[in-house]
Amino acid sequence: MRGEVLVLNQNYEPLNICRWQRAVTMLYLGKALPLAHDSREIHSPTTSIRLPTVVRLAEHVKRPLPQVKLSRSSIMARDAHTCQYCGKRTKPLTVDHVIPKERGGKHTWDNVVACCVRCNGKKGNRTPREAGMSLVRPPARPRFIPYLSYSTFTWALRNEAWRDYLEPFAPHLVPH
Ligand SMILES: [Zn+2]
Repeated sequence: MRGEVLVLNQNYEPLNICRWQRAVTMLYLGKALPLAHDSREIHSPTTSIRLPTVVRLAEHVKRPLPQVKLSRSSIMARDAHTCQYCGKRTKPLTVDHVIPKERGGKHTWDNVVACCVRCNGKKGNRTPREAGMSLVRPPARPRFIPYLSYSTFTWALRNEAWRDYLEPFAPHLVPH
């Protein structure tokens, strides 16, 4: 991730990741403002600037929100590969319908969670209340997805220069 720059929308929402050359051009044109730098400088005949690591757009960019695909991998990523009943990262993980499908539960973001095999077996065909189990966190459609994919987001979180800017959008994904 050296030389790559996190681009935030004007409202600080993570938008994308670009090469430093593009970020420097945006700064030069006044289309973006620098938020964080690394220690390196780049020089031209007339000027020298510190390499940005995070920039923020000067004007808000509106983009249509693409539909988040509900898939096994996106559920696992949302739940940080953590069982939503016991809170452990025990593998293998499966997808649990909080209200079982046979009981009218839907296959929607707010009714599916990552679940370890042990908890899945314990819960069986019951609701969490019937099984005396509770969820670590109520499932919901993830909110940061529109612009950065899960895999990009989790990868980007490993960059310390970016973490502070990404964390508010997915605190549960931040590695410990
Ligand atoms: Zn579990």
